Amino acid sequence: MSFYSVWETLSWDDIRLQLYSKTRKDVEVALSKQQLNTDDFMALLSPAAEPYLPAMAQRSQQLTRQRFGNTLQLFIPLYLSNLCANDCSYCGFSMSNRLKRKTLSLAEIEEECRAIKAKGFDTLLVVTGEHESKVGIDYFRQALPIIKRYFSYVMFEVQPLSSDEYRELRQLGLDSVMVYQETYQANTYAKHHLKGKKRDFRWRLETPDRLGECSIDKMGLGSLIGLEDWRIDSTFTAIHLEYLKRRYWRSRYSLSFPRLRPCAGGVDNIQSMSDKQLVQLICAYRLRFPEVELSLSTREEQSLRDGLFNLGVTSVSAESKTQPGGYANEQHELEQFSIDDDRTVNEVAKAIKAKGLQPVWQDWLNELSAMPPETFSSPE
Ligand code: SF4
Repeated sequence: MSFYSVWETLSWDDIRLQLYSKTRKDVEVALSKQQLNTDDFMALLSPAAEPYLPAMAQRSQQLTRQRFGNTLQLFIPLYLSNLCANDCSYCGFSMSNRLKRKTLSLAEIEEECRAIKAKGFDTLLVVTGEHESKVGIDYFRQALPIIKRYFSYVMFEVQPLSSDEYRELRQLGLDSVMVYQETYQANTYAKHHLKGKKRDFRWRLETPDRLGECSIDKMGLGSLIGLEDWRIDSTFTAIHLEYLKRRYWRSRYSLSFPRLRPCAGGVDNIQSMSDKQLVQLICAYRLRFPEVELSLSTREEQSLRDGLFNLGVTSVSAESKTQPGGYANEQHELEQFSIDDDRTVNEVAKAIKAKGLQPVWQDWLNELSAMPPETFSSPE
């Protein structure tokens, strides 16, 4: 049993029909509830919810502060390699793009870690293209111990791996894995994933199950906004998350909502999402999943990001470079996509504080778990 068998029972067209037939009454019912189900979530995602955006935003903000306090976690991506054996229509790293390729050596990884650490970060997102033989488990097995010497919380956004490989990386200190399905519409998925192992829709869809089986601390889900109707894909994401939460309750979860960015060899016919709709999605996710982390990247531009800091998101990246070696040595021609918020992390931290929030640099859970038990015992 995996999410694949649940996915097989779901109909894309039925979900579309349900979403687009939601009424104002359905939205009001959803907003009156403390605990929302998938049906309520669809009401909040629907066009009928648009006039209710201020009420959704207020509730989202209140729930976020209640669950996460006045804090916002900071993280930064570290790109180790732009080598990729896949062809995805929307990505600059695609195998068939004529691009200068680079995989960081272990010495270069260390150099990048030092440059990032000097900025104050303690939470790192490691990103690579998907290349099994050159940027696969053998490479990760060597890279991770180096990275863990610098960062207490390490997340991976790399090719889907087997359960045994995830188990091994857990032993080496891996904390979290982000694996985005891109789209839950199988035909659209096939249309945009043209070559390589990523064509295997099922292998990717079952990756969170493999992560749950080895009790990863946190996994991140999401769909790439722009390939399909974002309302339908987000509904599938929410159903997927609900399935995982029930089955793998030891893990924590995060959601991302990346919108397609311009890149080398970019995609036509993007199904765009407005800024207002992005706000609607974030608020709907927060109301449906009050305890789940919502993560915002530097793909979005500065003023929108500042507005979202206090609306429902709980972690934000800053000062990101999307090319391998981007922190110690600037090499723009290697980048995956251009980013829209190019402020330094100190400028982002200042903007967070201006919203009355505290930027969080360290993962306190890890810090606490490293302390001796007597630290927590009450005085005699
Ligand atoms: S999206 Fe990922 S798998 Fe696809 S080409 Fe880019 S790096 Fe490779």
